[in-house]
Amino acid sequence: MKINVDDIKEEIGAFKELSFKEEIEDIEFQGRDIKVVKPAKMDFQVFTTDESFLVTGSINLELNVACSRCLERFNLPLTIQIEEEVDKEEVELIDNQTIIDITKEIDDNIMLAIPMQPVCDEDCSGLCPNCGQNLNEADCDCFMHTVDPRLAKLEKLLDKE
Ligand SMILES: [Zn+2]
Ligand SMILES: [Zn+2]
Repeated sequence: MKINVDDIKEEIGAFKELSFKEEIEDIEFQGRDIKVVKPAKMDFQVFTTDESFLVTGSINLELNVACSRCLERFNLPLTIQIEEEVDKEEVELIDNQTIIDITKEIDDNIMLAIPMQPVCDEDCSGLCPNCGQNLNEADCDCFMHTVDPRLAKLEKLLDKE
């Protein structure tokens, strides 16, 4: 993502606010297929300091990921806070305009915000480890899920720790 800072570069303490939507490509991350459902909403402030440009703000996006328990795909909204500093020596001049490029920093921040084990619901029952039945949809006949319901409850509690 590139930000034109030509209008604020001369004055220390000057800042501008930006609000826009940007298409983000689907993400291949550790073998997981992560879809970006709709354009990300970016809200940034850019400040000029004596030696740098400081970018703060947030990215709102919605991902479509597989639940780590039941493997069903679901939409996961994420808000990512951004705080990046770009040295004035790193700016590019494009068509005589001073441009800062934080594409990589934004990509890195999005990667870091993706949960390792997303769950479709905190109470997701997952798949039966024995037969693979999605236990959110129906129970199966395997032993460990037909035991006394009080035991099953206990099992679930233990599972959470
Ligand atoms: Zn699930
Ligand atoms: Zn089963």
